[in-house]
Amino acid sequence: MSSEQNKALQDLLKEAREYVNYFRELGVETIDSETATPLVGQVTVSQAKALSNEPVLPRALPPPATAPKALFERQSVEAAAPRASQTLFGDEPTSASSLPHSTETLEEIWRDIGDCTRCGLCSGRTQVVNTHGNHNARLMFVGEAPGADEDAQGKPFVGRAGQLLTKMIEAMGMKRADVIIGNVNRCRPPGNRQPTLEEAAICRPFLFREIATVRPAVIVVMGNTALRNLLEIKAGISSVRGRFRDYHGIPVMPTFHPAYLLRDPSKKRETWDDLKKVMEHLDQTARGAASA
Ligand code: URA
Repeated sequence: MSSEQNKALQDLLKEAREYVNYFRELGVETIDSETATPLVGQVTVSQAKALSNEPVLPRALPPPATAPKALFERQSVEAAAPRASQTLFGDEPTSASSLPHSTETLEEIWRDIGDCTRCGLCSGRTQVVNTHGNHNARLMFVGEAPGADEDAQGKPFVGRAGQLLTKMIEAMGMKRADVIIGNVNRCRPPGNRQPTLEEAAICRPFLFREIATVRPAVIVVMGNTALRNLLEIKAGISSVRGRFRDYHGIPVMPTFHPAYLLRDPSKKRETWDDLKKVMEHLDQTARGAASA
């Protein structure tokens, strides 16, 4: 074997090992061999398993990291939305066409937010933390409010919970730059407390405007604050997670907040199940739009 081939093999082994570690961290334990998809660089699951120090049995594999960009960038929302409303929500009433048509850009929304003093949270923050990511994303994640790291850096989900979120996104076969990530509130609450109902009600209209601008194919709401403010559901995330809900025709998947997963890693398994449903939906709607 030449030294170049040897280096290519080493790189491949490193990449495969990192993938196996993602799955292990996410609590994935079994592989469905019928649906198994080759990993990056055509490394198969059994090869990846052989490369890891401990046995790992992923149940279902994500699309490869090199998955077609079309899966993650917005195509025709019009093509995707009717399909979502017909198949995902069972008997629930849906409103596939009720998302207001927006002509404003994210930059215009952020200009409007400006150096916001609309609620009391402004007095304790370092800076406003706006939604961040791909303005044409097909997938949006929504959390609660910035913590200390986000307040310091001015970007959502950059602390420990954010690092876990990044791993979850990568395990889905995407990069952070493919998706868009925001919060219900844009200023750090003192001591990282939950935003009050009033603070959330003052801030969330900006999130709604961003959603109307981006029009993602799927939204993942992480934790109770995002769930209750986007969907106005009073039940807790544990009983609601795992089943698509509807936000003006956009399928919304409620799941656990990554900060909660850091406290209770046993919930990573259920979170991964929820994210697989999101991947399936993204895949189906991308195919539907391509064949339309
Ligand atoms: N938790 C959140 O809900 N949002 C962030 O941006 C960081 C942590």
